[in-house]
Amino acid sequence: MRLLIMGPPGAGKGTQAVLIQKHFDIPHVSTGDLFREAVKNNSPLGVSVRKYIEHGELVPDDITIQVVIDRLKHDDCKNGFLFDGFPRTIPQAVALDSILSNLNITLDAVINVVVSNQKLMERIAGRRVCKVCNAGYHVVTNKPKVEGVCDKCGGELYQRKDDTAETVQNRLKVYNDQTKPLLDYYDKRNIIKNVNGLGEIQDTFKEVLASLGVKQ
Ligand code: ADP
Ligand code: ADP
Ligand code: ZN
Repeated sequence: MRLLIMGPPGAGKGTQAVLIQKHFDIPHVSTGDLFREAVKNNSPLGVSVRKYIEHGELVPDDITIQVVIDRLKHDDCKNGFLFDGFPRTIPQAVALDSILSNLNITLDAVINVVVSNQKLMERIAGRRVCKVCNAGYHVVTNKPKVEGVCDKCGGELYQRKDDTAETVQNRLKVYNDQTKPLLDYYDKRNIIKNVNGLGEIQDTFKEVLASLGVKQ
């Protein structure tokens, strides 16, 4: 299965991606997670992308595309993958097409998680992430068993620096201006699967599976 998951910041892409990854046994490739990891390690990539992320701007296409090319070379991507947060611009989508066509493979589907703007703000404001394993939580809707501690690894939970009210406004604008046009791009190929992201996490996941033709 070769999938993309799209949607505005806070829609629940990462949360669904973890469930999809488990179900299909494919790697979850999140460019956001890869960038945050690089920032945490203070690697050359991290140094070059930190400012963009903190301001809610997109990392330049050439840097982002190279990260994806490198990640796709790993063996675990041989039997499929789920990209989360990539592509985010038309040039990134064009680059992905050419990378995949060189490998003689195509995308099976693009899952688009649909959520209202009001909901996005609530989700982002309450989002907490594990410092160690990147697992995502929410202070109201998706609480860890012990406040501030990751259920999966015991790591400390933190609030992302770009999850502040001001930065979020910019990220939503960037999404509308630069990423939303990709829905038309993929719609022309008839591979978009719109799912309602407003319900419970498991309800959305059921919709995802149904949209991919998985019998439940
Ligand atoms: P969100 O939860 O808002 O969808 P992500 O974790 O996917 O956020 O991305 C966080 C930030 O990382 C983005 O605001 C952007 O700065 C950078 N980023 C992630 N993916 C891309 C991409 N494909 N192109 C450019 N920048 C990206
Ligand atoms: P994205 O990757 O699209 O930015 P996340 O998966 O990080 O979004 O989800 C944003 C926040 O909303 C997180 O705090 C997550 O725990 C929470 N969340 C995700 N899906 C749902 C849902 N269906 N209902 C309630 N809260 C959710
Ligand atoms: Zn953890």
